[in-house]
Amino acid sequence: MLSTMQDVPLLVTRILQHGMTIHGKSQVTTWTGEAEPHRRSFAEIGTRATRLANALRDEFGVQQGDRVATLMWNNSEHVEAYFAIPSMGAVLHTLNLRLPPEQLVFIVNHAADRVVLVNGTLLPLLVPLLPHLPTVEHVVVAGIGDRSALEGLDVRVHDYEELLEGRSDSYDWPDLDERQAAAMCYTSGTTGDPKGVVYSHRSIYLHSMQVNMAESMGLTAADTSLVVVPQFHVNAWGLPHATFMTGINMLMPDRFLQPAPLAEMIEREKPSHAAAVPTIWQGLLAEVTANPRDLTSMKQVTIGGAACPPSLMEAYDKLGVRLCHAWGMTETSPLGTMAHPPAGLTAEEEWPYRITQGRFPAGVEARLVGPDGSFLPWDGESAGELEVRGTWIAGAYYGGASGEPFRPEDKFSADGWLKTGDVGVISSDGYLTLTDRAKDVIKSGGEWISSVELENALMAHPEVAEAAVVAVPDDKWGERPLATVVLKEGATVDYEGLRAFLAQSIAKWQLPERWTVIASVPKTSVGKFDKKVIRKQYADGALDVTKLD
Ligand code: AMP
Repeated sequence: MLSTMQDVPLLVTRILQHGMTIHGKSQVTTWTGEAEPHRRSFAEIGTRATRLANALRDEFGVQQGDRVATLMWNNSEHVEAYFAIPSMGAVLHTLNLRLPPEQLVFIVNHAADRVVLVNGTLLPLLVPLLPHLPTVEHVVVAGIGDRSALEGLDVRVHDYEELLEGRSDSYDWPDLDERQAAAMCYTSGTTGDPKGVVYSHRSIYLHSMQVNMAESMGLTAADTSLVVVPQFHVNAWGLPHATFMTGINMLMPDRFLQPAPLAEMIEREKPSHAAAVPTIWQGLLAEVTANPRDLTSMKQVTIGGAACPPSLMEAYDKLGVRLCHAWGMTETSPLGTMAHPPAGLTAEEEWPYRITQGRFPAGVEARLVGPDGSFLPWDGESAGELEVRGTWIAGAYYGGASGEPFRPEDKFSADGWLKTGDVGVISSDGYLTLTDRAKDVIKSGGEWISSVELENALMAHPEVAEAAVVAVPDDKWGERPLATVVLKEGATVDYEGLRAFLAQSIAKWQLPERWTVIASVPKTSVGKFDKKVIRKQYADGALDVTKLD
């Protein structure tokens, strides 16, 4: 028997219409580096998104299914693109501006982007690539920046504001199938070619509702969220869509992502929430330690994308800012877990829950798979690869011109679950603790050592700013850990002392023998530790390694 309920598709268009009317007065504030930031209401953004859709269709002939790329910072024009492009049935393709040029070329060609919206300040990045991007017909430049380098190129160049001028404020938004592509984002994978994840209207809609639930970020129109996580990194973790559903104000840093301007923006604009990867919070901590600022407006901070060292959480607790750990991937939209402790606990009892990756929402099913392929119990001890499935989890990658979805065996199980490549345990009450990426775990004499556990313990040392641990080959044990350490200013090297400090919390056989001090930990395009680079530096003999007895 079928239900008697209306079958209304879940569309980004609806989120746009809702945000620009019901929450028309909410604002997107974009940092400009000048005396005053730029402010634009949701109503204005909605109107301008409508004009942009008209321009894309009437001027460039953009049709349903066409890919329109953005190479932009977090700002209000980028939010306009977020809503205009999917609502007209086209596909928003956010480009990661920190990727190496050859990967950007691969991605644009693979997606066959027809139009690129670019911030003027990013033209030096785009212009050298354009001769290698045959599918790109139009470049639309938003904001300040020297445009002269575009002259003479085989592409039509437009100014964003001029393009919107005089366009109609209405658009006959099409009736779309909720399973149609709305947006796409390529993984920032450090091995092999990047892979395209294509989000549907339905997955974005449902994911936005989850972001807004109290068990996730739970914000309202009374909040302002500082969206540091880039709009090219998994849709800024879903925040632009979620904010238009509930009227949460957004504070956008544009290109001002350095610790000093971030500290200033927090003190001046007083956001109640923020979202960013751990390296951002490490940098900000060093900044406010040197130049104190009031960060206490931030009642809740969502931290994820890489493991959050417990010492970082403690440091922010002392500043009156609560970090809440979240886990996710490009393939999971990204919200997979959030670490809100169970109700009714004291601060001391909450702590062991806060340092996990968190609990799964109803929309995300999880299972752990052991090395022999068996499913492992949720007992907080059995470690295996995490597999997930759900309405906002990818079931395949974009296959490019072939039109066929791409389902590599190492990424999807035979029954359709996503293999995350993350190794961890799940407690009986559903809290996930990740011990490593499958490829980063250190296999020493048949036992596994967690590089993350060693890093967290090292980063708790008062003289250590950052630490990354990688597996290196060892004649006797197969692999052993190499500790690479960034010292705080003025600290002196004492490897024996660091090892003794680790020995307070780590089993003796897991303690690293090999140590080196480095100036900074290499980072990926989205600010995570790039262990591949460290492994290569070690293999090339480029590190000055001390071996303790
Ligand atoms: P990306 O697709 O670039 O967002 O990368 C996803 C990967 O980041 C995951 O598979 C994890 O390895 C890692 N990751 C994300 N969040 C966390 C977290 N809270 N703790 C540990 N690793 C994380």
